[in-house]
Amino acid sequence: MRVGVIQGNGIGPEIVGATIQVLEATKIDFEWVDVEIGDEAIEQYGHPLPPHSVDLLRELKYAFKGPFVVEKMKGRLLCTQPDGTQMIYPSLNNAIRRELSLFVCPRPIKGVKNISGAYEDFDVVIMREITEDVYAAIEHSIGDVAAECVKLTTREAAIRVAQYSFEYARRHGRKKVTCVHKANAISITDGLFLACFREVAARFPDIESDDVMVDAAAYYLVTDHRRFDVITTSNQYGDILSDLCAGLVGSLGLAPGGNIGFDVSVFEASHGAAPDIAGQGIANPTAMILSGAFMLRHMGFDREAGVVEHAVWDVLEERQALTPDLGGSATTAEYTQAVVAKVEQRI
Ligand code: NAD
Repeated sequence: MRVGVIQGNGIGPEIVGATIQVLEATKIDFEWVDVEIGDEAIEQYGHPLPPHSVDLLRELKYAFKGPFVVEKMKGRLLCTQPDGTQMIYPSLNNAIRRELSLFVCPRPIKGVKNISGAYEDFDVVIMREITEDVYAAIEHSIGDVAAECVKLTTREAAIRVAQYSFEYARRHGRKKVTCVHKANAISITDGLFLACFREVAARFPDIESDDVMVDAAAYYLVTDHRRFDVITTSNQYGDILSDLCAGLVGSLGLAPGGNIGFDVSVFEASHGAAPDIAGQGIANPTAMILSGAFMLRHMGFDREAGVVEHAVWDVLEERQALTPDLGGSATTAEYTQAVVAKVEQRI
């Protein structure tokens, strides 16, 4: 299996390295293909996302990716297409998603026994639309007195993310899909998103559906999380709510994810590059490892994916090798070794 590896920066290389060790313990015959993106691509090609790296990802079809630091107020990136068209993206992370036409980011966030306290039974999948909304990079300054940003919402993207959410719910035995929006105040754009959701929901009578305003959703996730199963939402709300859910179960280091496209998928943790702890060897690689398990499922290695997930949950539940974000003193390497040992036992 040839899999692309995008190291990222900050804690990226540490958690990507940990994930490779765990995936290799499954005994699947992987060939890891380094994809030059970010600082190494700037050094060699003068651009963080050279077209040949995008082409390589298209050819490989599966990749996993460490996070990239995006500097505040400087993250915008210009990419030139083969036909000369120029696209502006708000960040390198967004550019990778959009150059590859990745359209939905499922983030399955689960509580863990002996770790997540009142949220041990937390089990919610956030389906984040990742092609538009205020991250479409359609924004500009009006002199130095104002700035405007377009909240792009198309029928095509809203239908697509809703359709994916209901199909996912059916495939994974999920009972309910909830649309999270703000269609009371943003009645045209979020109104369209909700209308498209309802249109798709009508085609899935076997799956319960409802909708909740984003502010109330944040409240209910904290006070009554059992009312949610799958949440379908737009780009920015999904971005924010997934960090909230990660906080509820105990750490950003516990929230995995995948960016799914028509032909290509890139798997990555929900969190960022954590520059505050980078290089210290204490990052929690769980979210990245679980994103790797998510990739295995996509590739059809269901048994191996289950082994990795259970190995992670066993190590966390036993509380013998917890990283500092979860109150322990284990290093990334010690935690990873504990997970590798469990995978080897189970495989
Ligand atoms: P962050 O998610 O990197 O970190 C927030 C807090 O959570 C920090 O205290 C950090 O130490 C902690 N944390 C995150 N992941 C952890 C892990 N695996 N183990 C232990 N602790 C962890 O968010 P931020 O600080 O707002 O962003 C840092 C940089 O990452 C920014 O430049 C941002 O733009 C970028 N970012 C990238 C991505 C991506 O690549 N997909 C996503 C979000 C943020």
